[in-house]
Formats: sequence, C-alpha cells, structure tokens
Amino acid sequence: MRDSSVNFNFLHRTCTLVVLLCFLHISVTVIYYVRSLDLRQTFVQHQQTHNQRTPNVVRQGSDEPKFISLSNSTEITEPLETCPDPSPILVGPLRIEFNTPVSLEEVRNENPRLRDGGRYKPQDCIALQKVAIIIPFRNRDEHLRFWLYYLHPILQRQQLDYGVYIINQAGDETFNRAKLLNVGYAEALKEYDYECFVFSDVDLIPMDDRNTYKCFSQPRHLSVSMDKFGFRLPYNQYFGGVSSMSKNQFLKINGFPNNYWGWGGEDDDIYNRLSSKGMSISRPSGVIGKCRMIRHERDKQNDPNPQRFDRIAHTRDTMHKDGINSLSYKVVKVEKDKLFTKITVNIGKAPR
Ligand code: BGC
Repeated sequence: MRDSSVNFNFLHRTCTLVVLLCFLHISVTVIYYVRSLDLRQTFVQHQQTHNQRTPNVVRQGSDEPKFISLSNSTEITEPLETCPDPSPILVGPLRIEFNTPVSLEEVRNENPRLRDGGRYKPQDCIALQKVAIIIPFRNRDEHLRFWLYYLHPILQRQQLDYGVYIINQAGDETFNRAKLLNVGYAEALKEYDYECFVFSDVDLIPMDDRNTYKCFSQPRHLSVSMDKFGFRLPYNQYFGGVSSMSKNQFLKINGFPNNYWGWGGEDDDIYNRLSSKGMSISRPSGVIGKCRMIRHERDKQNDPNPQRFDRIAHTRDTMHKDGINSLSYKVVKVEKDKLFTKITVNIGKAPR
C-alpha cells in the first residue's frame, strides 16, 4: 500500500514537472514569435523609408516629411533641424577610377532621390547651404558621365541643397571657360535662391568626400592636390580646376572675365581679382583636397590663348568693366535631365 502511494506521488510530481516544462516552453516560444513579428515589421518599415545603399551612397531619410504621431488619427510635422557640420555620413577617402565606362541610366538608377534638373536636398535636416554647381562644357559626354557617377553620391553625403548646371557652349568657336561660368551663375540664380557657387571642370573628381563642395568665409580652392600635378599645387596662386564662391564674394569681384578665349589665364585673372579686393584663398589640406583628372587630348578649338599673359597683367584695370556686369549671351536650349540641367548657350566668338 505504502509502496503504491509512493509511486503515485512520484508519478504525480513528474507529471506536474512535465506540464510546467511544457508551459514554460510554449510561453518562451510565444514570446519569441511575437518579438520576431515586431522586428520584421520594423525591418519592413525601415526598408521602405530609410537608407538604401548604392556603391557610393548612404542615402538618408524618406521622401516624406518627418511625422510624429500623437494618436492613431493625429499627426503633426516636426520642424527640421539644420544639418550637422561636417556631415556625419561622410566616408573619407574614395577609390576613383575611369577604366569601366558608366551609363547615364546606371547613374540615374543609383540616385533615386534626385529631382529633375539634377536637384537634391536632404530630407531629414535643413542643408547648411544652397549650392549651384556650374560646369563649363562642350563635347565631353564621357567625362560628364564619370563626373555625375562620382559626384552625385558625394554631394548627397555632404548633405547639400544643390543643383547641377552644365553650361554647354554652342557652335565650334574657340572655347571660353570663364564666360560660361558667368552664364552658369546668372542662369542658376534665375531658378533658385542659391547662396554658393561651385565652379568645376568636368574632368575633375575629388578623392575624398570630406572636401565639401560649399562656400567658406573666403573664396575656396577645392582641387588643391591633383594627380596631374603630382598631388601638389603647381604654384601658390593657382585657382584652376574646382573653386567655390559665395554670391557676395562673386559680386565683389564683378564675376569672371568674359574675354579669355582659348586655354589658360582666366583662373589667374580670377585670382588677381580676388587678391585686388583683399580676399585670401581658403583651401582644404593636401590630403582631403586630393583629386583625379580624367586624361584626355587637348580639345579642338581650345588652344592656349596667346593673349593671356598680357590680359593677366591688366586685371586690375579691366575687372570693373569686364565681368558679370557686361555679360551677354543667348540661351539656345535648356534640357532637364534627372542628373543635370543642361543649358546650351551662344556666347559669341573671340574678336579677330
Ligand atoms: C595657366 C592657367 C592654368 C595653369 C595650370 C597657367 O599657366 O595660365 O590657366 O590653370 O597654368 O595648368
């Protein structure tokens, strides 16, 4: 009798333990299941609204303004804050190469957040500056594709409110880089209240995204260590390649000269204008300011300008009458692509 009672007790306890263990197991499974549902939902939301990655880009924010939810039915917009300076999503040194050709379609696909005309602004914060990027251009489509491929992701990581303007010289008269830059300044301002202008050759790509394409308290020279010059400045006053100026700085020097036809000298003239107005040149360090130039033959109709030495010697006398105040040109065509605004202009020809 005693024996059977002991057995029964033992059985009873074992069963209770088994039931408890089963209950514990089921509870843990249910908890994990519910949590995994939560996570999956968050992941899906995150995928829909947040950073997609492309080879060069960490994208931010969603297309929608930021909402905070008060209840199921009420939503109010949260005021955006100014973007931090420097941008926290920069990656530093970049690998730049020109061996594999890129197509515009590819670049468009990799930059889904661009608006028509090559415009962008950050979704999650107010950009520090509104920047127009001006590129003087003629027959350099292959270079332009590389420029767009590398620069759009960089400029987005720099969290700028920017637009890209390709100023295409119509016809095949001698090229005039500085006059095209003046046209870019004037045309970009017709479109948006830009406060900063970056003037860039189409064949120059920065090798570090910390070289921010914005304006500073002094005019900025951005392409300070080019591979072409052995990653150093060719001379201290060099202001060619890529530079930036605020609207005020640009107007103080009456913009750029319109009468440098052919290669060379216009950047030295701009330097003379700046120094005659008591401005100095700001530059990033030689490491951050590294950039690559796409190798190419000299363009047709862009031979060295033999008059450049004489002109540079007289900048101070000519700059007040030759510049943005004497600019004349005719817009031939405006094309809006997702990656850029291309403005084809007739800027006349060199006096013979
Ligand atoms: C020219 C500049 C040019 C520089 C570097 C100078 O002699 O006047 O326009 O940017 O050389 O090539």
